[in-house]
Amino acid sequence: MSDPITLSFLGGAGCVTGSKHLLTIGSRRVMVDAGMFQGEKRWRELNWAEFAVPAGSLDAIVLTHAHMDHCGYLPALVAQGFSGPVWCTAETVALAEIVLMDAGHLQEREAQYAAEGGYSKHHPPLPLYTVADVERTIPLLRAAPYDTDLDLGDGLTLRFTRAGHILGSASVTLRHGDTSVLVSGDLGRHDHPLLESRETPPGAGYVLIESTYGDREHPETAGAPHELLAGVIRRTITRGGTVLIPAFAVDRTPVVLKALAQLRRENRIPDVPIFVNSPMAVAALAVYRAAGRSGELRPDLHLDDFMELPNLREVADAEQSKRLNRPEQPCIIVSSSGMATGGRVLHHLEHLLPHKRNAVVFTGYQGVGTRGRALLEGATELKFRGRFVPVHAEIVQDAEFSVHADGSDLIDWLAALDPKPRTVFCVHGEQQTSERFATRIQRELGLTAVVPHYREVVALDPLDGLPSLAPVPAPTRPEPASGGEVAQPGTAAATTAGTSAATAQHGPAERSLPAATPGDRLPPRAPAPSREDHDDRDDPVRLILTTALGQVPFLPTEKQAAVTMALQHAFTTSRADRAALLEAVNEALYAAAAAVETPGGQSIVALLAQVPKALR
Ligand SMILES: [Zn+2]
Repeated sequence: MSDPITLSFLGGAGCVTGSKHLLTIGSRRVMVDAGMFQGEKRWRELNWAEFAVPAGSLDAIVLTHAHMDHCGYLPALVAQGFSGPVWCTAETVALAEIVLMDAGHLQEREAQYAAEGGYSKHHPPLPLYTVADVERTIPLLRAAPYDTDLDLGDGLTLRFTRAGHILGSASVTLRHGDTSVLVSGDLGRHDHPLLESRETPPGAGYVLIESTYGDREHPETAGAPHELLAGVIRRTITRGGTVLIPAFAVDRTPVVLKALAQLRRENRIPDVPIFVNSPMAVAALAVYRAAGRSGELRPDLHLDDFMELPNLREVADAEQSKRLNRPEQPCIIVSSSGMATGGRVLHHLEHLLPHKRNAVVFTGYQGVGTRGRALLEGATELKFRGRFVPVHAEIVQDAEFSVHADGSDLIDWLAALDPKPRTVFCVHGEQQTSERFATRIQRELGLTAVVPHYREVVALDPLDGLPSLAPVPAPTRPEPASGGEVAQPGTAAATTAGTSAATAQHGPAERSLPAATPGDRLPPRAPAPSREDHDDRDDPVRLILTTALGQVPFLPTEKQAAVTMALQHAFTTSRADRAALLEAVNEALYAAAAAVETPGGQSIVALLAQVPKALR
């Protein structure tokens, strides 16, 4: 028998940060992304929790790109004993080095500030990891080319496909025998200002797709590009203020500079100094410059046009950085981090926010719980280093800068996959956004789409003989393709069968974390029902029963046989005999109700309660 394959969602599930998707093949563990949780405290605290599996037991890590929420936890894993290879594209190696080194310094500095200011809960305040940990991480980074199957040994292959989100960003396909998983990573818009468009990866049985903007459409630019930004700059400079543009260093800064250069060229903003105040951004600009030859940048892009703006000044040291808070003349400051979660932008905000003459223009997604989000939601004061400062500056968001695909962009990416996935997992989105996006995928593409929960484990190996969970063409396989997802309650179960009640009953707030944690042995498989016909995969009752069978392993062992037998009985009862079918379903319902205190029992009860409606 082949090794069981499972996927565990250890981050980026129900939230936008901390992406970590663990693929387990037998005893082998490969994780896609090792992101840091940012924003909300309940998520951030997980950075400090013991990792779900011993870090030393991970065989390899694969990175989709160099943003902190995808690679920022790597040094913490190294500190906990991980020493395997970290696969990514060459540009991601270059950017991740810069990002992680900066993060190491930041961690150490913040622990030091906290110690000096006495505002930390930890005594003494500790960094999550140190520069020394980062120095041990960087040699583990291994570059791999795009569009090439890389043999990771023992039948596992890895392939990167251009994702068009930031330089080096990739979607990741992992393939083992007939089982394949595709992780979209963050996907770019179809018209990224700097990068060539993303490409379509080969289809896979299971697809994880980001859903940051899954429930939104970026507005089409009406009129001149970045007129909102131009207007803020003109107003602010006229009243003698400073325009602060928080921007992610490794990708957004060059995009912002390109826009500023265009506005200046078209004489839509006054000729004032533009300071790039982020050592990381300055280093990253060099990577973009070097990438000019790699074919990843748009052919119509002329980096020199904006990287050598006559009034562009790079701020090298902290002293000059502080002087910028009292500039001799109105100016524009581009500084990181983009969500104001750390970095030099913090001391600028601290000094600029209290004055009406200044403006802050956000250029990217602002995660829940970040200072950026608080400002956009109208905060009247904000805490910096343990002290509150009032907010009087003008606060604006320029959505034109987003480098994330919107809902339609994401749907286009999914629709192009061939073969079609059997299950789509919507990750990297706020819970409600991901749920709405999953619904849209079901409606528009007819695919099974679910929102996994933090620490949820799903089995990717098929359960022989079961029908596919969704009315989609089966992926090309030598064996009969059959729905094998052992989903945790409320996910595949709820969405597949269209049982909204199940979703309602098992919302994230009420639901306890699944008992099976990564590293645990998976529960035994549910025995497959006997069936001769394969032509009724659209039958909603059959889908409900199948999904319920998938939940059997999550029942207490002693309850599994009774529920399985009852479900099999229902399976074999003719649909034409409505009364007999309902009786069989009730029999299963009673058997499951005996274990209603468990997640599996709850889920099966909620599912079976939908059968009468499905029969109508
Ligand atoms: Zn990203």
